[in-house]
Amino acid sequence: MSTANKSTVTTFPAIAMRGIVMFPSMILHFDVGREKSILAIKEAMKKDQLIFLVAQKDYTVEEPQKEDLYKVGVVAKIVQLLNSGSNGLRIMVEGVYKASITDITSFSPYMECTVKSLSDSQRTNVPSDVEEAMVRAVTDSFEIYCDLVPKMPKEIISSVLSQKTAKGLFDKIVQNLYLPVEDKQVLLEEKSLYNRLQILVEILQHETAVLTWERDIYDQVKDQMDKNQRDYFLREQMRVISEELGEGDNPQEESSEYAEKIEGFTNMPEETKEKLLKECERLYRTPSQSQEGQIIRTYIETCIELPWDEMSKEQADVARGERILNRDHYGMQKVKERILELIAVRKLAPDIKGQILCLAGPPGVGKTSIAKSVAAALNRKYVRISLGGVRDEADIRGHRKTYLGSMPGRIINAMKQAGTRNPVILLDEIDKMGADYKGDPSAAMLEVLDSEQNFAFRDHYIEVPFDLSEVLFITTANDASAIPRPLLDRMEIIEMGSYTREEKWNIAKKHLVPKQLKRHGISAKELKFSKDGLYALIDGYTREAGVRTLEREIAHICRKIAKKLVEDEIKSFTVTEKNITEVMGIVRYLNDGVRQADEVGVVTGLAWTSVGGETMEIETAVLPGTGKVQITGQLGDVMKESAQIAVSYVRSIAEDYGISTDFYKKKDIHIHAPEGAVPKDGPSAGVTMVTAITSALSGIPVRKDVAMTGEVTLRGRVLPIGGLKEKSMAAYRYGVKTVFIPEENKKDLEEVDNVVKDHITFIPVSHVSDVLKGALAHSPSSKRKKPTPPSTAPIENAPVKIDSISIQ
Ligand code: ADP
Repeated sequence: MSTANKSTVTTFPAIAMRGIVMFPSMILHFDVGREKSILAIKEAMKKDQLIFLVAQKDYTVEEPQKEDLYKVGVVAKIVQLLNSGSNGLRIMVEGVYKASITDITSFSPYMECTVKSLSDSQRTNVPSDVEEAMVRAVTDSFEIYCDLVPKMPKEIISSVLSQKTAKGLFDKIVQNLYLPVEDKQVLLEEKSLYNRLQILVEILQHETAVLTWERDIYDQVKDQMDKNQRDYFLREQMRVISEELGEGDNPQEESSEYAEKIEGFTNMPEETKEKLLKECERLYRTPSQSQEGQIIRTYIETCIELPWDEMSKEQADVARGERILNRDHYGMQKVKERILELIAVRKLAPDIKGQILCLAGPPGVGKTSIAKSVAAALNRKYVRISLGGVRDEADIRGHRKTYLGSMPGRIINAMKQAGTRNPVILLDEIDKMGADYKGDPSAAMLEVLDSEQNFAFRDHYIEVPFDLSEVLFITTANDASAIPRPLLDRMEIIEMGSYTREEKWNIAKKHLVPKQLKRHGISAKELKFSKDGLYALIDGYTREAGVRTLEREIAHICRKIAKKLVEDEIKSFTVTEKNITEVMGIVRYLNDGVRQADEVGVVTGLAWTSVGGETMEIETAVLPGTGKVQITGQLGDVMKESAQIAVSYVRSIAEDYGISTDFYKKKDIHIHAPEGAVPKDGPSAGVTMVTAITSALSGIPVRKDVAMTGEVTLRGRVLPIGGLKEKSMAAYRYGVKTVFIPEENKKDLEEVDNVVKDHITFIPVSHVSDVLKGALAHSPSSKRKKPTPPSTAPIENAPVKIDSISIQ
C-alpha cells in the first residue's frame, strides 16, 4: 500500500489498542467495544477508511489520556467491518505505515491524532552476510523456541521457516509470536531492521530459557507424581493380591496402627519415637508375609509392648509393709527391719534410686519369697529372673535383631512381663552367673544395676534405650563372696542364715502346713501335725539349712492323705512321731548325734557349703608301715595340703604327747573323711586333722561332744575361717557342747543365733595346742586322770564374756 506520504503530517481518527501492538504489513482482526473506538471507526469509514492504531501502556485504563499511550503506532486501513452483537464491532485492518503522534487533537467524541509518518532506516549499512547470519540466528532461535511450545501450529512454523528475506521473517514471527506489549512496542519503534532482528533473537532466547526452566520444573513435578501414582498402584495391587490369598495382615493398616500407638506414648523419648516410626514406614513398604516383614513386625510389637508409661502406684507405708512381711514370713527380724527401713526411706525421699539389696544365704531360707513380699508391700509388680548358669552376655542384653530368631535379653523380657516401669525385679542366684568366651554377663549386669547408667539401658535387640531407673532390684546369692567384686560393691548384703530346728518347726506350723493344706484342698481338721510329728519330719527326713525340702515333704504327706480321704479310707489324720513312717516310709537321716563315747582318732569338724553348715567327721588310723600318709574321702587339693601340714606339725610336738619321734618312718597314717562320695575342700579342717592325728598317734581319746574349725599353719597358728554362723548351726543340730573357733572369728559370734549360743560353749583359740589341750580327753602326762573339760564358762549372748576365756 502506498497511500502514505512520507513527508505528510496527517490527522486520523484513532483507537487506543488494549494488549495489541499493530505492525505495518500486518493484517489483524479484533473486536471493538468502547464507544469512542466505534465512533472513530465510523468516522474513518466516512472518509478514506484509514485509522491510527496505537497501543495503550496499561490495558486496564478505560479512558486513556495522552500519557497512557505509546507515541508510535500504525496507520491502518479498515478492510472489513462487521457487527459483533451487543453494539460491538469486529474489524479487519491492514497496516499501512508506521507513524508517531505529534498531537492528539481531540479525545471526544472519539480520539483524533495528528501523526507523522516514520520510515525505516536503510538496510545497506549492514553487510549482507551479517544480515544472513542474523536471519539464520533468528530462524534457529525460533525453531528451538517452537520445540518448547507444543501448541504452536505446524503451518505457522513452516510459513515462518520458509521466509527467505529478513523483513519477511521478522513480520511473520512478530505476527505469530505471543509477546508482552512492551517488547512488541520496542520492536515497533526500532528503525533498523537489523536491530529489530537482534532484539528478536534476544527475546526468543530469553523465552526459550524460561520455557526450558518451566519444562524442567514440570518434569520434576510430573516424575514425583508419576512415582507416587506408581507406588499407589503397586501397593493397591499388593493389597488385592494379599486379600485374594487370604493373607490377612495389611501392612499399611498395621503400620499406621503401630504408628498411632507409638505417637501415643508420653514417656517415650523423641528419638525412640522417630526410630520406631521409621520402622513402621519400613513395614509399610514391606510385603506382609515376607520374612523381613515378620522381623520388623515382631520388633515393633516388642517395643510397643514395653511399659513406657505404665507405673504402679507405690505405697511406701511402713505399717502396711510390716503387716505384709509378718503375714508371709516367720522370724527374719533383721531382714524385715532392713526392708522396712527401705520402705521408710522411699516414703521420705521417693527419688533416691539405686538401693540394691542382696539377700545372701543357703537355699530355702526364704530369699525369693521375702522379695515377693517386698513387691506386695510396696504395691509393685514382681518379676524373677534366674541368673544361675547364665554365661552369655546376650542372655542379659539380647541378640542383635539381624540374627535370625533374635530376642530381647532377660531384663527387657522381665520389663515386658511386669507391664510397669517400676516393678521389683529379683535377680536370683547372681553369684552363679559366670563368664565365658561369649562375653561377660556381669558387665551387662553392672550397667543394669548402676543407677548412673540404667536410665538408658540398651538392649541389643530393641536398640532404643529403656529407662530402668524406676525398677527396684533385689538380688539373691548363696555365697556373696562369689559375686564379682564390681557388682558386689553396688549391693548391700543382707545375710540370711540357716534356720534352727525350732524356727523350722514354727515356719512349718504357721506357714508351710497351712499353705500346703490349702493348696491340696484339705481342711485343718482333716490333717493335723503334732509337735513331735513335725520335729520327727524335720529331723528324720530333711537335712538342710532352709525349709524347702521340709515344705516338699509336707506337700508329699498332703498328697498321701488327700488320696486316703478321697478313697474314704480315713476321715482325718494326725501326723505324730510314732506314725510318721506310715506316710513317709523309713527314716532317711538317723539322728547321728554326738558319739556315745570319747574315741581315739575321730574328731568332729565343721564344714560350710553353699547350702549351709555341716558337721564332718575326720577319722585317722595309724598302722605299722613306712611313713606313708594316705588320704581318702574325695578331699580337694587344699584339704590334702592341710593333712600334710597337720602331719608335719604333729611331728614337731610328738614328744609332748608321748609319741615316738620316728613315727613318720615306722607308721602309716590313713586320714579319711566319711561320706566319701561328697567332694570336700578348703583349709578350715586343719585343726581337726591335727587333733585327729595327735589322738591316733598318742592314743589319747577325743572328747565326744566337741567340734572345731580353723586353718592351721606349720607352726600351729590357727587362722580364721568363713561361715561361722552356718557351721555353728550345724554343731548345734548335731548336739555338740563345745566348739573351738579361731580367735579372729570371735567377732562373728555376734551373728550367731541366740539359741545356738545358749547351747554351745565357743572357745576362741589362736594356737592349735589350745585345741589339743581342750579337745583331748586327758593330758599326755596324766593318762590315768579323768579327762578335764576346758575351764571355760559358756558364752552367753554378750560377746564381751569371750574375752575372759583362756585355755590352759
Ligand atoms: P530361697 O529363695 O532362699 O531359696 P524360698 O524363698 O524359695 O527360698 O523359700 C522356700 C519356701 O520356704 C517358700 O515357700 C517360702 O515361702 C518358705 N519360707 C522360707 N522361709 C520362710 C519364713 N521365714 N517364713 C515363712 N515361710 C518361709
